[in-house]
Amino acid sequence: MTVRPVRIGSVVIGASDFVVVAGPCAIESLERFDAIARAVSRLGATVLRGGIHKLRTRPDAFQGLGDPAIAIVRAVRERTGLPFVTEITDARQVEALEPVVDAYQVGSRNMHNYALLKELGRAGKPVILKRGFCGRIDEWLHAAEYLVRAGCDDVVLCERGIRTFETSMRNTLDLACVPYVKERAPFPVLVDPSHGTGIPSLIAPMSLAAAAAGADGLMVEVHDDPKAALSDGDQALTPAMFDELVGRLEPVLAALRRPLAKRREDR
Ligand code: PEP
Ligand code: MN
Repeated sequence: MTVRPVRIGSVVIGASDFVVVAGPCAIESLERFDAIARAVSRLGATVLRGGIHKLRTRPDAFQGLGDPAIAIVRAVRERTGLPFVTEITDARQVEALEPVVDAYQVGSRNMHNYALLKELGRAGKPVILKRGFCGRIDEWLHAAEYLVRAGCDDVVLCERGIRTFETSMRNTLDLACVPYVKERAPFPVLVDPSHGTGIPSLIAPMSLAAAAAGADGLMVEVHDDPKAALSDGDQALTPAMFDELVGRLEPVLAALRRPLAKRREDR
């Protein structure tokens, strides 16, 4: 099916360029987010990610900085010039997030949250809809339809792994869903090999495989000091590892005739 490209700030997902979204799992401080953002921007990311409101399995785990992160995003987004995407966990967050967010992310735990989808569909911004970890493809596409029906023309899907009997990896990254969805739905598709595998050494190979399977881009977690990260440090790539990933990706994209999206000033 013909893909309906989605513009996130200055970046288009679902056109010929392959787009890399990167950044930390969670925003931890201005200094750290700024350092990570500068690194990923220099190394090939054209959309910045970073969690403000985190949905954690354990209630005693770091829940994200919440509203104090908004001033941090404002500063870093301005400095890097990169569009910013973050997860929204409650429709009441729209008002505070709106000024600094170029696209909302619906996390895996909320793919089935139809009340949130209906509200977000009306919010006037693109939405990156992650696949529920127990979500079938048809349920994922119906969730996307909730957004479209509520008025959102700019939906991007993101495969981030599903829960199966296999427990060696954090999730089972279902790359076959990429061509399957593309045959049936008009939404651009990203792949998140960070949550999809949970294992840093697997992120680059699965990124190459995602590109070859027809994904329109990646979402990757990067942290400048993974051991000190307040969430998902175990799966974070260091900037050096992210650099290596992009280096390995480029020849694959060249063979696919899909250029890596470039920052506007680098074109
Ligand atoms: C994330 O991207 O930070 C995240 C929490 O992902 P998921 O919703 O896929 O678990
Ligand atoms: Mn994470």
